Amino acid sequence: MALRLSAYTLCVNEHPDPNTVLLYSTLTKAVAVLQSSLFRDIKTGSIQETDMPTCLELAGEGLLVDGDVEEHSAFKLWLNQTRFGFSTIETVPVVTTDCNMRCAYCFGTDFSPSFMDRETCDHYITELARTIEVHGTRRLSIDYFGGEPLRNLDAIDWLARGARGLEQRFGLELRQRLTTNGYLLDAEVASHLASVGSPAYR
Ligand code: SF4
Repeated sequence: MALRLSAYTLCVNEHPDPNTVLLYSTLTKAVAVLQSSLFRDIKTGSIQETDMPTCLELAGEGLLVDGDVEEHSAFKLWLNQTRFGFSTIETVPVVTTDCNMRCAYCFGTDFSPSFMDRETCDHYITELARTIEVHGTRRLSIDYFGGEPLRNLDAIDWLARGARGLEQRFGLELRQRLTTNGYLLDAEVASHLASVGSPAYR
């Protein structure tokens, strides 16, 4: 295999001492220090057989790449998968537009408040399950939102249980949290939410 420096590797000559070169991958954040002689061999495409294990290690860390790899296309593909893919789903269910406060600047509350019911929660979970199954999603993040979400504890409870079901069914990494004004958050509510897997607040 012909290895070369990755286009995303930065090189600092004569660092940390005059006979070495520091490499840093802006993609993987890997760092390595090489003897200048090995660095020269890599640059000129004349890696010695005895240095190949070291170079393969560097390739494993993303500092070197196979000469045939077209890195910019691979990076574009990765970027598009990150931007438009479904490996992570972040969802923000508005469980109610009602709130116990009336902040003047608020855009989230409603004078005729609505509350997400259990049937809608079930649809929500079913649609999430379909998406996760089709796209092989690995991480699911749910942020319960409002209005003041604690005005509809039943919906949070119902969705959180459904999310735990998805976690077990698909082996997901699940994160749940609540955006709240905190006024209705007492010890009983907090302990109940913790029991259904929604212990984080902001
Ligand atoms: S507490 Fe939040 S949701 Fe409620 S009125 Fe104020 S800004 Fe809006």
